[in-house]
Amino acid sequence: MRPLVLIDVDGPLNPWAAKPKPPNYRPFDVKVGWRRKLRIWLDPEHGDQLRRLAEDVNAELAWVTTWMHRANAEIGSRIGLSALKVVEFHDEHGWKYPAVARYAYERPLVWFDDDFGLHAARRQEFVHKRRQLTTALVHVDPRTGITAQHLSEARKALSGNP
Ligand SMILES: [Mg+2]
Repeated sequence: MRPLVLIDVDGPLNPWAAKPKPPNYRPFDVKVGWRRKLRIWLDPEHGDQLRRLAEDVNAELAWVTTWMHRANAEIGSRIGLSALKVVEFHDEHGWKYPAVARYAYERPLVWFDDDFGLHAARRQEFVHKRRQLTTALVHVDPRTGITAQHLSEARKALSGNP
């Protein structure tokens, strides 16, 4: 069973709450809608760091983000990640948990997100159903984005898998 490394965009890769943004982040303006632009901040090193993590533990990287398929064009391409699969979540009950449970099925997983606190009951149910499987929910503060510490937590969680 190939493990999964699941990545949210806003928070983990785009530290929207950081003031000021850490020096390793660069601004990008993304077109949203007809005339609006959204400024996001990305660390170009994150692409390599995530790819290396996935390679070292033989995991698959995938997006779990409200950016959905736009994550490949707007985020992945800017940090040097080739196109990844997208975990789609359309039913809003239970946030991302039902979709991730289906997508991951019995695969071990690490998941970077800043919103695990949402839907506490669903979270508990998700973790409980996966209690025999590696399930590392790595909370990333949207004031810092993914740091070396988060990456090593993820590596540790997955390195025990055969
Ligand atoms: Mg987020």
